[in-house]
Amino acid sequence: MNIQYNLSLLPYNTFAVDVKCSQLVTFEQEEEIQSLFQEKVFQRKFLILGYGSNILFTQDFDGVVIQLKTKGIEKIKETDVEVYLQVAAGELWDDFIQYCIDNTYYGLENLAGIPGLVGSSPVQNIGAYGVEAKDTIHSVKGYFVQSEKAFEFSNTDCEFAYRSSIFKTNLKNQCLITHVIFRLSKKENYNIKYKALEDYFKKNNLSLSLNNIAEAVVNIRNSKLPKVGEIGSAGSFFQNPIVLRSHYQKLLEKYPNLISYEMGGEKVKLAAGQLIDLLGWKGKRIGDAGVYPLQALVLVNYGKAKGKEIVDMAKQIQSDVYNHFGVELQSEVNII
Ligand SMILES: Cc1cc2nc3c(=O)[nH]c(=O)nc-3n(C[C@H](O)[C@H](O)[C@H](O)COP(=O)(O)OP(=O)(O)OC[C@H]3O[C@@H](n4cnc5c(N)ncnc54)[C@H](O)[C@@H]3O)c2cc1C
Repeated sequence: MNIQYNLSLLPYNTFAVDVKCSQLVTFEQEEEIQSLFQEKVFQRKFLILGYGSNILFTQDFDGVVIQLKTKGIEKIKETDVEVYLQVAAGELWDDFIQYCIDNTYYGLENLAGIPGLVGSSPVQNIGAYGVEAKDTIHSVKGYFVQSEKAFEFSNTDCEFAYRSSIFKTNLKNQCLITHVIFRLSKKENYNIKYKALEDYFKKNNLSLSLNNIAEAVVNIRNSKLPKVGEIGSAGSFFQNPIVLRSHYQKLLEKYPNLISYEMGGEKVKLAAGQLIDLLGWKGKRIGDAGVYPLQALVLVNYGKAKGKEIVDMAKQIQSDVYNHFGVELQSEVNII
């Protein structure tokens, strides 16, 4: 276990916001969690940090930041058609994707290129290009940090939803995830139904393979998202809003080109980026806070923006979108 005091979190968040924490505790062995319990770390103000790619710090964190660096991918069950992999929370998401591709396990290739650690993947049920983590997560293991009891949640227990799970709602800040168990297919099975991906395959005349899908996804991502380490961001800042069909139809009268995704029943999902773009925010900059010119859903830090400046900009966008479209945008990013 490594403990550092009064430390800048600049290298620990992809928004590249320069704030300090009182203490940063990192550990590589799962057994060390018991020391955290003995030290009563979770009785103090604490934050569990993954790679810091879905977090925006608005002030110094006067508490303990805990980061799991545990590693390991273990095959716990295998049949002719599928494999169950138990993955330690501290594994880098993209390293795990590469492991799956190298071993010809199908199911996660569309999620290539998402920054972060495996332990965070269930928290907001990461998703991209027509696939969500929930499609392959079998279960999640960890500890309730207050009772110190171990848990294993089934996929259903996790209450996965669009960019959400029980870890982001009812059990927010109450669980330390140590492992995620994925159930992956060994049978050839691809999903390129997502329009941008399908178009990419057609345009480049590509054959279907795990490598080609992951590469295509990464190339499309790089063409419209800021690169981690070059421009500060947390990816999409807002969730795509889900509205009633009647509201959507009313909006269509004024904005006939509105993008929508069917959610079943009376609900329709709108593209937050398009709403923001329609109001002229794309490419806007206030100081070092900005809306990424290639994707209006992404707020960026061009250098020395403070978290509060980015939040202020987000609030302006939210009220602008609400005033014009009657649609509430929710932040996808954890604001601390
Ligand atoms: C350029 C860019 C592109 C992105 N693209 C996508 C995308 O396509 N799709 C998508 O869904 N997301 C995307 N994201 C957001 C982000 O990458 C994901 O949400 C990712 O899963 C966050 O992982 P992390 O390890 O950085 O988590 P962090 O940001 O460190 O933490 C996120 C949340 O999870 C909690 N947490 C982390 N680890 C644990 C643990 N072990 N136990 C309990 N709680 C924990 C934290 O307390 C926090 O609340 C993008 C971000 C960036 C910067």
